[in-house]
Amino acid sequence: MTKHIFVTGGVVSSLGKGLTSAAIGLLLEKRGLRVRMQKLDPYINVDPGTMSPYQHGEVYVLDDGAETDLDLGHYERFTNSLLSRDSNFTTGRIYLSVINKERRGEYLGNTVQVVPHITNEIKASVRKLAAPDVDVVITELGGTVGDIEGLPFLEAIRQIPLDIGRQNCLFIHLTLVPFLKAAGEAKTKPTQHSVGQLRQIGIQPDILVVRTERELGRDNAEKIALFCNVEKNAVIEEPDKEFSIYEVPLGLVENGLDQLIVDKLALPARAIDMSEWQHLLHKVRNPEHEVTIAVVGKYIQHKDAYKSIYEALDHAGIAHSSRVIVKRVESEELERQGPEVILGGVDGILVPGGFGMRGIEGKIDAIRYARECELPFFGICLGMQCAVIEFARNVLHLENANSTEFAAETDHPVICLLNDQRKIVDKGATMRLGAHDCLLEPGTRAAECYDAERISERHRHRYEFNPEYRSQFIAEGMHPSGASPDGRLVEIVELADHPWFVAVQYHPEFKSKPNRAHPLFSGFIEAALQHHQQRLQMTL
Ligand code: GLN
Repeated sequence: MTKHIFVTGGVVSSLGKGLTSAAIGLLLEKRGLRVRMQKLDPYINVDPGTMSPYQHGEVYVLDDGAETDLDLGHYERFTNSLLSRDSNFTTGRIYLSVINKERRGEYLGNTVQVVPHITNEIKASVRKLAAPDVDVVITELGGTVGDIEGLPFLEAIRQIPLDIGRQNCLFIHLTLVPFLKAAGEAKTKPTQHSVGQLRQIGIQPDILVVRTERELGRDNAEKIALFCNVEKNAVIEEPDKEFSIYEVPLGLVENGLDQLIVDKLALPARAIDMSEWQHLLHKVRNPEHEVTIAVVGKYIQHKDAYKSIYEALDHAGIAHSSRVIVKRVESEELERQGPEVILGGVDGILVPGGFGMRGIEGKIDAIRYARECELPFFGICLGMQCAVIEFARNVLHLENANSTEFAAETDHPVICLLNDQRKIVDKGATMRLGAHDCLLEPGTRAAECYDAERISERHRHRYEFNPEYRSQFIAEGMHPSGASPDGRLVEIVELADHPWFVAVQYHPEFKSKPNRAHPLFSGFIEAALQHHQQRLQMTL
């Protein structure tokens, strides 16, 4: 029978609940168990696809085209759990489903209510992941205990042990023990209150994972255990890891979390083997080289807006025993100061995805600089579209060439909507989404990086390279090295007479893993390392 772990959070948000849940998934897999991961988000949007990255950070896209919370990125990077649209439910999606059923008459004769109809729908969404080939489902509940909008979710997970047996469920609560400088001590009261709130709802946590800035100490751990009604050995400390997120799972093993979970759920698990992870961490800690990459975007201040891009750069660094220093460049700042001032001294430029007009010209300036100065350049989604616009304007001399997203009436719509997208009115879940195959042209840089002829990558965009301009671009040296199997859509462009200039219409960052860097990120960092070497030699 599939067992269920529920991860809730209290005291404050941003405690790293997603990362901790992913780490728990990893530990259980390292013990030979088959895991599925899931996130429940209490907001009303049906999915995060309609939210600004400023609100919610990056939107993480899955193979099946689901637009999901960025915590699912942690799940995919840390575990082998198969993710699908059933891995992320929001309040909006739950209500939408219940309301549709009500309209179809499925509750005919009844008053439809939060309890039991909404809670039943939530329970069904959780239980959906249970299967004969799944040992454990880990369900993370977004938000913090005490939020009004989270209540139906807490009520639903409170009921699940009644349906499937308390011994098959485990409640893990993540809290914070702040260190008050003025008092010179760690404070356990917020944790006591947070667990108190959970218990009022009827959930008694089995394990507390306590986030700390300074060592908790035995006295505090015992106090928490007593006041929160958990066993002493079930108070697991998770200190801040300044250095790398890859330290988190190892710290949790050290503090006995995996053993505790296995014991409490009576799971048939083998001894843990973290050697691969230790090796990874060793590489992160001991880089032999260093490169600086400028990421030129418009959501730069938000630390999670390009989350998977930063992670993928790190992975490529690990693959090349290098530390990747990311210079986050606000594209409007680049418009003001010019590329020479801002980009002098970097070893590579990456322009990520995005929407809307603001900051576009800065991105185009950055790409021109990369092309003319022979700096490695990697364009992703909007980054590719900007590379196409830059080339059209400055090499093909198509004055004011643009994307119709930014200039509907441009004379040269080198990026535009194709037929499939023209008729669409709704904004939610209507982009070209999810995994699509792409054929690579042999002998190109893309084919060399992937070492393959057919690849599959995830998409999230409306606009496309305008096929009417294809031959003009090829004639001047911008080559479509990857295309959809029917040849209709250009998926990759690259420049042959440049050290490394590759731009893709899809999002490769979603498929990079810490121990399996994405081939294009790896190729980009390799080129940036070479550029760095050349720069050093020139200054000698
Ligand atoms: N705004 C562009 C489009 O919709 C690019 C999207 C993206 O970068 N994800 O096509």
